[in-house]
Amino acid sequence: MADLGKPANTIAVLQKYDFVFRRKFGQNFLIDERVLEKIIRAADIAKEDFVLEIGPGIGTMTQYLAEAAREVTAVEIDRNLIPILEDTLSGYGNVSVINEDILKVDVKKLAEEKNGGQPIKVVANLPYYITTPIIMGLFEKGAPIESITVMVQKEVAERMQVGPGTKDYGALSLAVQYYAKPYLVANVPPNCFMPRPKVGSAVIRLTRHAKPPVEVKDPAFMFRLIRASFNQRRKTLQNGLNHSPELALPKERVVKALEEMGLPAAVRGEALALADFARLSDLLGRDSG
Ligand code: SAM
Repeated sequence: MADLGKPANTIAVLQKYDFVFRRKFGQNFLIDERVLEKIIRAADIAKEDFVLEIGPGIGTMTQYLAEAAREVTAVEIDRNLIPILEDTLSGYGNVSVINEDILKVDVKKLAEEKNGGQPIKVVANLPYYITTPIIMGLFEKGAPIESITVMVQKEVAERMQVGPGTKDYGALSLAVQYYAKPYLVANVPPNCFMPRPKVGSAVIRLTRHAKPPVEVKDPAFMFRLIRASFNQRRKTLQNGLNHSPELALPKERVVKALEEMGLPAAVRGEALALADFARLSDLLGRDSG
């Protein structure tokens, strides 16, 4: 089997099919065997595992996954890649390719069909333009997920990991950390891809919590509060939550809740940890008056 992790083999496949990269699909193919091996190791794939791969490209990582796992389903939006994948994956009987936009795939149903509804592992070199909707979709749509091991833009990996008081801290940090434990696997420079991306990359593994680290009565309301707090980053929390068209919370209510939490009236969202947002959400939630 051609090892596509070798640049010469990737070039040969691209030339054979006259493939034209489509920037709008975030196509930067991996051409570094060590990075590919690192991703597979970090994803901790065992022979009994079902793996969902997002955006297989020409099938480089798919080949590694197919060798490590029981079964792989790869979802690729670009129909020009489908005949290429049929070719590069022809030696594997345990891979199916779906030509679809991952944001439209019912991952819960897929996990039911392919893994008896048990938690699945997701592995991908993600198209960077839709990193957040992909990750949030996987967590929020109720699909059983065990872990997500993905290549993302370096800054995004940082945002997923940091806590309050840092400049990268925001809605993505809080959402990811509510659902999972992030672990930075490796930084990956642009020369490991073809074509080279303009930004640095990093592999991050998100291991889903068995139970969220905080208890909150209405998680959806908490996430609305979080989004409103960081939409208007430089505003105080009372102004941000008051000016948010979605929430329009009276300032006095916000100040009262902050007081109850022992926080200053002029506090900004970026100072609040996940547990603070959970508490604030319970205090400001519909039932608490
Ligand atoms: N896995 C390959 C590799 O590592 O060489 C390709 C990774 S490339 C960064 C991202 C891949 O995701 C491309 O193949 C692209 O066509 C595909 N893609 C982009 N948007 C997608 C979407 N909405 N749904 C599924 N695949 C998508």
